[in-house]
Amino acid sequence: MKDELVDVLVVGAGPVGLVLASELVRHGVSVRVIEKVAERPRVSKGLTIHSRSLETFDLMGLADRLVEAGFRSRGLNLSSDTGSHAFVSMGDLPGRFPYILILPQWRTEEIVEGHLAGQGVAVERQRELLELRPRSGQVDAVVELPDGDREAIRARWVVGCDGAHSAVRKGSGIEFAGQPYPWAAQVMDIQLDTDEPIDVLENYTTKRGFVMFMPFADGTHRVITMDHAQHDAHVPTVAENQALIDTVVSAKRIQLVGDPVWSSHLGVLQHRQATTYRKGRVLLAGDAAHINFPTGGQGMNAGINDSVNLAWKLALTLRGQASAGLLDSYEEERHPVAKAVGKLTHRMSKLYTVRHPLGLLVRKRFLKVVGHKRSLQQKMAMGLSGHAVSYDETARGRTLSNGALGAKAVQAGAPAPEVHLLAPDGAPVRLYELLREPFFHLFLLVPPGASETALASVQKVLTEVRTRHPGVVTPHVVFTDVAEGPADLGEPALADPTGEFASRYGASAPAAILVRPDGFVGAHLSGLDAGAIDTALAAWVVTR
Ligand SMILES: Cc1cc2nc3c(=O)[nH]c(=O)nc-3n(C[C@H](O)[C@H](O)[C@H](O)COP(=O)(O)OP(=O)(O)OC[C@H]3O[C@@H](n4cnc5c(N)ncnc54)[C@H](O)[C@@H]3O)c2cc1C
Repeated sequence: MKDELVDVLVVGAGPVGLVLASELVRHGVSVRVIEKVAERPRVSKGLTIHSRSLETFDLMGLADRLVEAGFRSRGLNLSSDTGSHAFVSMGDLPGRFPYILILPQWRTEEIVEGHLAGQGVAVERQRELLELRPRSGQVDAVVELPDGDREAIRARWVVGCDGAHSAVRKGSGIEFAGQPYPWAAQVMDIQLDTDEPIDVLENYTTKRGFVMFMPFADGTHRVITMDHAQHDAHVPTVAENQALIDTVVSAKRIQLVGDPVWSSHLGVLQHRQATTYRKGRVLLAGDAAHINFPTGGQGMNAGINDSVNLAWKLALTLRGQASAGLLDSYEEERHPVAKAVGKLTHRMSKLYTVRHPLGLLVRKRFLKVVGHKRSLQQKMAMGLSGHAVSYDETARGRTLSNGALGAKAVQAGAPAPEVHLLAPDGAPVRLYELLREPFFHLFLLVPPGASETALASVQKVLTEVRTRHPGVVTPHVVFTDVAEGPADLGEPALADPTGEFASRYGASAPAAILVRPDGFVGAHLSGLDAGAIDTALAAWVVTR
């Protein structure tokens, strides 16, 4: 096994590497995962899992396990010493997860690693990547073993999920462009004693600094502090943090209790992004590709969604079934997302750290507007939660968008909305449950009372898709507005008795909706024209 050529070598078993490995295995790819440290430290860097990432975990079959282990925060409270206050509620987000899930990163990793073990892959620990040697059609990865010996792992592809100091990125000569921030921040996980429970994310900002509280499920809280009076590299004591809290938070009594579970100093905060995500057969994902100001709670979420975007594209490439340029669409789609996350977190960093009188006025005004404007709160919730991420502006997204559809139609590139259907046996089934079957899913929406001719064209599409894309595109017939379809189709069909599918997708049956393996819309076509469907599929997969 050790000398075998593996499809993909994943370097780094943080959240991003683990999700990538699991997604690759789900799509039939052979992987090895190497990790330099012997044991996972039980301290939590990241802790927020946003709503759209939970949908991603849902199609991996992991969301319910994560939700059960975590704490659901309804939203985010922003307060400043100018008396301005705003609550950004997550309650109106689309989908099953209208909240921010707070779960220690080590626990998320433990759950994903357990899932990966169930898929038959064990993380190979105490194996540090030293060097990459690209060869024709493969890469040799030189790895140091626990006893100091070296092994050359042969892989068709290597993905660097090895964090901010990525050896893969450095070894590939990819630039990590960006800058350090001039401030330092501290984290402390500790019990609190308060008059009212802190059951949402709470942020308090004054000229002196900022304090943020995040509730864990076990009753402790993450306390993030930044004290403008001292930006030196030291881990604050409980007494120092209490003094800062007493100065910054005037609205309520918050007392730190006992010894911290963990406290740390966040040395050099930076925002940086790799100038490219691919060099030959080497790719980057997660912190190896982008890092930003951590209080936005975005880095791990962005990385997890990198992995889910990349896995199926690599899988199709390895099968020789990827359309031209599909693998490069990974960078095309994900680079702008990380860039936007960097911009958002940079703006948040300014909001949290501003001290100039003019800046304080801007912050006061901003919080006042957010506090009063539901539409702005909703926009912020959509942005923070990841639901606003769309690939509609990429070349593929634009080509596949259909100008003939109504204004409310969900177009190619947008996240696929969750819908509730009835399976052929009458049992309830959700769209994200269906998506667990790789790769693409093609939903053919058929209106009530469809004619024999219409049913014949449904049959034609089914036959063509099954013949030309076996194992890559799963077609489903969905009868809308009825509890079950007519028997004369001769096919098991889904039913959408309430018309939820058509309404959530802004579709008018008959219509065809292609959903990508990562839960984004691949195409939305009116009518059930076999030729048009074939053209849309050809943008993603090689047709036979
Ligand atoms: C205090 C703090 C709070 C944060 N809060 C949040 C949050 O709430 N939400 C959020 O989304 N993000 C948050 N982040 C960011 C988040 O922690 C990172 O984005 C996330 O850890 C990135 O995951 P990763 O798998 O890409 O990299 P890492 O988690 O850094 O994992 C990389 C792995 O690669 C291994 N490795 C490194 N080099 C090698 C090598 N040469 N060979 C083999 N293995 C190697 C490392 O040991 C490590 O296990 C926070 C960060 C900090 C510091």
